[in-house]
This record gives sequence, structure tokens and C-alpha cells, in this order.
Amino acid sequence: MVTKGNESHHVDIDLSLIVSAFNEEGNVEPFYHEAVRCARIHNSNLEIVFVDDGSTDNTYSKLKEAVRIASEQNDIRVKVISFSRNFGKESAMYAGLQNATGQYQCLIDADLQQPPETAFQMLDLLKQNPDYDCVAAFQESRKEQGGSLTSWFSHKFYSMLSKSSGMPVISDASDFRVFKAEVGSALLSMKEYYRFSKGMFAWIGFRTLPFPYTPRERLSGTTTWSFKKLCRYAIDGLLSFTSFPLRIATYLGLLVSLAAFLYMMVVLFQRLVFGADIPGYTTIVILILFLGGVQLLVLGIIGEYLARMYAEEKRRPIYIVRKKLDSECLD
Ligand code: UDP
Ligand code: MG
Repeated sequence: MVTKGNESHHVDIDLSLIVSAFNEEGNVEPFYHEAVRCARIHNSNLEIVFVDDGSTDNTYSKLKEAVRIASEQNDIRVKVISFSRNFGKESAMYAGLQNATGQYQCLIDADLQQPPETAFQMLDLLKQNPDYDCVAAFQESRKEQGGSLTSWFSHKFYSMLSKSSGMPVISDASDFRVFKAEVGSALLSMKEYYRFSKGMFAWIGFRTLPFPYTPRERLSGTTTWSFKKLCRYAIDGLLSFTSFPLRIATYLGLLVSLAAFLYMMVVLFQRLVFGADIPGYTTIVILILFLGGVQLLVLGIIGEYLARMYAEEKRRPIYIVRKKLDSECLD
């Protein structure tokens, strides 16, 4: 193992930027240079942990290049963890946290929508408020694909999640956060396979300061989050942080029983007073369809939880590493 400047191993890292990148070939180099520029201005001992989430473009070779540059410049440490396939952003953030050594850590996107300069401002704010553990950037103006409909859905979703799980989930806060290493360890102590960082941040607690910012336009490439993918993510989050949907079965059951009891009274009354059977073909068809629908719905909800229990029970790894690089030990 070749190491240069042995002292650099003992230098305490101030900030670790944890960057998940999936097909970001046009962004990782500009990101690296921008982060280095900011670190020099703020006189901060920076480490960048890039997680290549199974990119199929040239992201990995661009990252290799960044590691090479960093090893020559010798003032910033760059680590790269490259996954064997695409495991998703949540898994990438988990791997990044595991490899971050900074006193302060920051989750940030590779596309420069979240400027590294903002991360350093958040770091300053956190250092000025030592009683707080975390600074969370929230978007002042949302610029999302699908526009207002998507943000309406996401607003409704987070208020529902907050209410049903009993935890304050900040609706406009993103994963873009700067926090103390303790917060990072708390996140790592949650080893679940289905990861939902907004819920996890709410669950672990800690004192969080909000930080308003306006996301920039994506530097290059397009977002990989379609409306369908967002819905899937929302359902995953809901199922991992609240068992409220299971209670729907109880409520529906009570409601249907009550309705059945009332209808029984009506039928009995008709039978006793008028004495004759009423041909109730329509009623029967409606009842069969309604009850069948309710039963399938509830069964589906139970099935969703069961599938997650099965997946969690298998204890599969959250990610698999194909290759690791470190600017301080190049082979
Ligand atoms: N990302 C990832 N794995 C994925 C999808 C996305 O690591 O499967 C990364 C992506 O490279 C980017 C960040 O997550 O750095 C946010 O993704 P994107 O910009 O597509 O989302 P948006 O900003 O539109 O929410
Ligand atoms: Mg983005």
C-alpha cells in the first residue's frame, strides 16, 4: 500500500461530503472542483465520499480521475465506493455514512442542485449553534417535475405520515443536511433494508435547525425520479414508519358490521310486518361486490406488510461493493 504524507492520516477531517451518484458523468468532476474550491475558501479539512450507485455511464472513470487529482493535490481526501449494481439512493447514502470519518457530515446530491457552498454555510450555522446537532436545508420554492400536482401530493403525504406515525416529518426538508457524526452513527444503527431517510431523521430525533435554500437547476443529465417511482417511494416510507393502514381493516370491519346490523333490522321489520320475502337480487349483488372489494383491499394491505417482513427477515446486505478507491492509499 502506497501512502503519501503519513501525517495526513492523522489530520482530523472537518467535513465529510457524502455524494450519491447514479449516471452523473457530466456532474461529478464539476462537483469535485466546486467542493474543493469551497473547502479552500472556508479553510476546511474536507473529505468527499462518492458512492457510485451502479452507474452505467462513465461516472466511475470520472470518479477515478477525481481520486487521482486529489491524491496529487494532497489537501482533500476523496473516497469512492462503487456498487455492483444500482441499489438506490438510500443504500448509497448508507454506504457513504459508513465510510465517512468527518466530525461533521453532509448528505448532498451530485448534480449541483444543492451547491457545496450552501453545505459550508450550513456547517457554519451548526458550529455557531453548538446546542443543535443537525441543519436541514428546506426548499423555499419547489421546482419539481410534474409541478404543483407533485408538490401537492408530497405535502399531503408528509402531513399524513406525520399524523399517523406521531413523529414530526418536515415536509419540505430534503436529504440535504449537515450533522454531527453522532447523528450519522444513529442513522447507521438503523439497519433496515427498506430505508426512508426522512422518516429515519424524524425517528432518531436530535435537535435540527432549518435552513432555507433555493435548489439550482440540474447541471447535466435528467432526474431519475418519475411520478411512479415517487409513489413507490412514498408507499415504502408509509409502510416502514406507520402501521396505520392495518387499522383500516378494523375500522372498515366495524363500519360494515354496523351497516349489516341496521340492514338486518330493516329486513326483519319488513318480514314481520308485511310477511313476504322481498326479491333482493340487486342488494345481494351489491353486497357481494362491496364485501369482496373490502376483503381484497385489506388482504392487500396485510400482504404488503408481510412482503416487507419477509424481505427484512432475509437480512440481505443493503448494498454490494464492486470497487473501492481512496486518494490516500492508491494501489
Ligand atoms: N441517485 C442515486 N441512485 C439512484 C437515483 C439517484 O444515487 O438510484 C442520486 C443521483 O445521482 C443524484 C441524487 O441521487 O445525485 C438525486 O437524484 P436526482 O437528481 O435524480 O433527484 P432529484 O434532484 O430530482 O430529486
Ligand atoms: Mg437532482
